[in-house]
Amino acid sequence: MNPIPYGRQFISDEDIAAVVETLRADFLTQGPKIAEFEVAFASYIGVKYAVAVSNGTAALHLAAMALNVNEYSNVITTTITFSASANCIRYCDGNVYFADIDPDTYLLDIKKVEELILSKPAGFFTGIIPVDLAGRAVDLEQFKALADKHKLWILEDACHAPGGYFTDSNNKKQFCGNGQFAELAIFSFHPVKHIACGEGGMITTNDEALYKRLLLLRTHGITKDPALMHENHGGWYYEMQELGYNYRLTDFQAALGLSQLKKADAGLARRRAIALRYYEAFKDDSNVLSQSGSVEGHAYHLYIIQVNDRVGLYNYLRNNYIFAQVHYIPVHTMPYYKQLGWEKGDVPAAEEYYEHCLSLPMYPTLTDEEQEYVIATIKKYYAL
Ligand SMILES: *Cc1c(COP(=O)(O)O)cnc(C)c1O
Repeated sequence: MNPIPYGRQFISDEDIAAVVETLRADFLTQGPKIAEFEVAFASYIGVKYAVAVSNGTAALHLAAMALNVNEYSNVITTTITFSASANCIRYCDGNVYFADIDPDTYLLDIKKVEELILSKPAGFFTGIIPVDLAGRAVDLEQFKALADKHKLWILEDACHAPGGYFTDSNNKKQFCGNGQFAELAIFSFHPVKHIACGEGGMITTNDEALYKRLLLLRTHGITKDPALMHENHGGWYYEMQELGYNYRLTDFQAALGLSQLKKADAGLARRRAIALRYYEAFKDDSNVLSQSGSVEGHAYHLYIIQVNDRVGLYNYLRNNYIFAQVHYIPVHTMPYYKQLGWEKGDVPAAEEYYEHCLSLPMYPTLTDEEQEYVIATIKKYYAL
């Protein structure tokens, strides 16, 4: 039996050919593949603008900068996420507030977010970063109504959810990152995510001003657009207008992303089929609880279960070459955030979730046979 990880990339011969072709072309970076990838990705998500960057964390950082986060900004997010969702606020010297999760969906609980907002003076908070955890879309229509009421922006962390959607009050599918209910959204192209670039990220928006600012910030704050420049000394001239970064994606990574994007729908269908089999296998099993909500619309980056004796099961699976994972250790319990004043006990439902969560193998090339083995091994453990 080969080891079974919790997630892995699928690189096809076409993917390899696409990268090789770009390696032989004129541009390794700052070439035509970047815009091609951006246009294709924007069309896949159903959003006006997309900006490709070097990774998902860079996407979060630039998004926070474009939203003018600074030392006076107080931003709400979930503690059940990868720490980068919160760190982007700290990069800009803002303050992070963790609201609790809904124990059934594991997503930010909008009632807890509202309670937190109302516990502070009006105008205290500046924004919310909801996370489509595991690939389950946050109902951003509801969050937008709350955000508008309190004049907050929304930055959607959609790293787990390209192709995921929720159904809005008009019975319309709203795809994660489509910018209908959020100022900005971000994605990651790390190999465990749906689309692999090695490293890579994307920011999506329908707001032209934010889009232009992001383009500037991605490349040192430099522009060569004569319409934007204060002076013009000739063809060589450029201006650095604000303090940006080099957060560019390379052309060969973009070529890989483009090629991967062509397989995204097939990969999503396979993930949903795997999820359905897990769901069916465990639905009457009192030892294993699945994330609530339907398979429809879920992008299934992860298949998370809740179990008792999690460490026992985790070790038993490892001994049987199944490498399940835990997503996530609550961010507020990390030493860095503790030093900022957060303590264990501050976010109780999230902490309770963490005691029991486990992510099962979930990736398009997981075979039916391997999945049966995973299910049988879990059942065997609880029958011991
Ligand atoms: C992966 C991930 C990130 C960061 O993306 P990188 O490309 O690894 O920098 C941010 N948020 C969430 C929820 C993620 O899963």
